[in-house]
Amino acid sequence: MDLVTETVRYTYRLRPGRTAQAALLAEWGRCRWLWNEAVHQQQTRRHPTLCKLSKLLTEARGRNAWLREGSQVAQQQTLRTYMTALGASFRVKGRGRPKVKKLKSAVPSLEYTTRRFRIKDGVLCLPGKVTVPVVWSRDLPSDPTSVRVYRDNLDHWYASFVVKRDTVAPAVADGSAIGIDWGVKVTATTTDTAFDLPHLGHRRRCAAERAKAQRRMARRRRPKGTPPSKGYLDAKRQAARIEKKAARQNTYDARQWAARVVAAHHLIAVEDFKPKFLARSRMARKAADAAIGACKRELIYRGLRAGRTVVLVPPAYTSMTCSACGTRAKERLGLGVRVFDCAACGYTAGRDVNAARTILVTAERVCASADDVRHSIASFRDGGSDAVRAGNPPDLSAGKR
Ligand SMILES: [Zn+2]
Repeated sequence: MDLVTETVRYTYRLRPGRTAQAALLAEWGRCRWLWNEAVHQQQTRRHPTLCKLSKLLTEARGRNAWLREGSQVAQQQTLRTYMTALGASFRVKGRGRPKVKKLKSAVPSLEYTTRRFRIKDGVLCLPGKVTVPVVWSRDLPSDPTSVRVYRDNLDHWYASFVVKRDTVAPAVADGSAIGIDWGVKVTATTTDTAFDLPHLGHRRRCAAERAKAQRRMARRRRPKGTPPSKGYLDAKRQAARIEKKAARQNTYDARQWAARVVAAHHLIAVEDFKPKFLARSRMARKAADAAIGACKRELIYRGLRAGRTVVLVPPAYTSMTCSACGTRAKERLGLGVRVFDCAACGYTAGRDVNAARTILVTAERVCASADDVRHSIASFRDGGSDAVRAGNPPDLSAGKR
């Protein structure tokens, strides 16, 4: 077993007082202006560099006293975050350019590097003499290098610290491989029944409660142009709280499951599922409830972090290819057909189980040919996944290949 140092985020709830909250929001206002200014630069001049933007920031700080009041580090970090988002928008397919952050809808988020924040007696000290008590739900493993302070849609503030953590890399169980097929009925069907992730339906369970809150919202809504009533805002908050709870339950389940899968397998073959496909179907609501995309992301992230081989297998043909003999069925299986029957060898299995096995077989074939593949979590986070991508499962029918 070797000791691995990994960079992770530790997030804590904050309890800012009224003064601190006002100061954080004022800081956010300045950073938001800066972000929008950067977006404007992108739209008019094209390709602003961090250097150019920083120069503009210095000029703007010289001109405007209100901008000078804010922390330069937070403002610099805003530009850095903007450049990262802009860079990702060029690299990652389907990701749009950074957009203007609107006063009404944008979520306050501030970033400070180690030079500009301190933790003193359990209190987070930020520039401008802002002190925010932190709820230390667990100990920080090391001194943080940066912090992101943000507020969610329930007006709760959080601090997310970037820390280095030493972990003992879990022993790799050799020869243990798993194939994972995503679905609606069962969120993840695997080659090993013990690791199946059932559809838990957290959102569905609280649907009635949420609908009630939303009806209350509708009743209390005032006509356009007039400020919303206190009762309306209360109802809106209630609806958001219910939704958040379900989302948290989903995240928790996904993490627990992913950790369990990663701990027991050295090769993880994942169906490279595109959530958009189900979002257009009649199962959209149920599929969204299961949050398959988030679950997949968690699994890949954890797998790579633990140094496992993660192979992404494209979903095409997986459910119509026999996992025993590799023959591809002549016709596509309808979604109603739950059992796969191979016409060539007579192999019978549950539709999803067969797909999971095909995914595993395809991944193993890829791994047999590709020698050691390096993984990095950082690049996965950027959106460019370093997980191995496999080709479609081969069609071994009709004597081809
Ligand atoms: Zn077969």
